[in-house]
Amino acid sequence: MTVMPAARPASVAAPLNADFPTPAVAVRGVNKVYGPAGNQVLALRDISLAVAPGEFVCLVGASGCGKSTLLNIVAGLDRPAGGEVQIVGRRAMLFQEAGLFPWLTAAANVELALRLAGRPAAERRTEAERLLRTVRLDGFADKRPHELSGGMRQRVALARAFAQSADILFMDEPFGSLDAMTRDLLHDELEALWADRGFSVLFVTHDVREAVRLGDRVLVLTSRPGSVAAEFAVDIPRPRRVGDPRETGLVAAITDRLRREVRGHAED
Ligand code: ADP
Ligand code: MG
Repeated sequence: MTVMPAARPASVAAPLNADFPTPAVAVRGVNKVYGPAGNQVLALRDISLAVAPGEFVCLVGASGCGKSTLLNIVAGLDRPAGGEVQIVGRRAMLFQEAGLFPWLTAAANVELALRLAGRPAAERRTEAERLLRTVRLDGFADKRPHELSGGMRQRVALARAFAQSADILFMDEPFGSLDAMTRDLLHDELEALWADRGFSVLFVTHDVREAVRLGDRVLVLTSRPGSVAAEFAVDIPRPRRVGDPRETGLVAAITDRLRREVRGHAED
């Protein structure tokens, strides 16, 4: 079951100061251990991060460093061993696999999410078609997942996430299985939708280029146990284009930091 039910309104703490609005996502001191007592593996160690309303934050880390574990905890699919997570707004999640119901058409997959979000039956079909247009799938509403390409299936999953009127999108390597050209196209589309709608994104990837292409900020995770090792601001104007020379230096710096993490001899 990959359709997340419509998120409950999260508890909203009053902002302490108008200059520092309540973050959309706040993670404080989160730890996670796997395994039975006596044979435990520390997967996450003292993770803290925040995503401002409307901000696009990317998390990069080597395979197995705890990215999915962290995202699942933040999205409310798993519990931390310690620490706290605060979410303000409705959330939706996108995984590496689109996770559509194979027996339902593209439109019906989106309509189901609208139903779970409590939208009246009479408007679901029109709204599903509108959402499919948003992700440029007009004309494919009546196709089933096996009749669509991988990129199209991820677009349906994106439309389904929007059907939940999400304020926050959690994305776990959502384009990892797509070819480079389709991925570039979806980067452009996601950026345009994000710029237009102003939702917040926490985007997990092991691909530094992808993180720099999309993020306002890139957080680098250490190898297991995962913790935030470094943070990079991406000051490249949008809309961004593949091959922007400004990205090259930043990609190199982040890759270098990540390599030191993977080799396990980072100095700080
Ligand atoms: P990533 O998404 O960065 O590749 P994961 O969050 O999937 O990493 O995994 C982090 C670590 O926790 C890995 O060492 C993995 O083997 C371990 N792990 C993940 N899920 C479980 C689980 N359900 N039970 C035990 N260990 C797990
Ligand atoms: Mg993962």
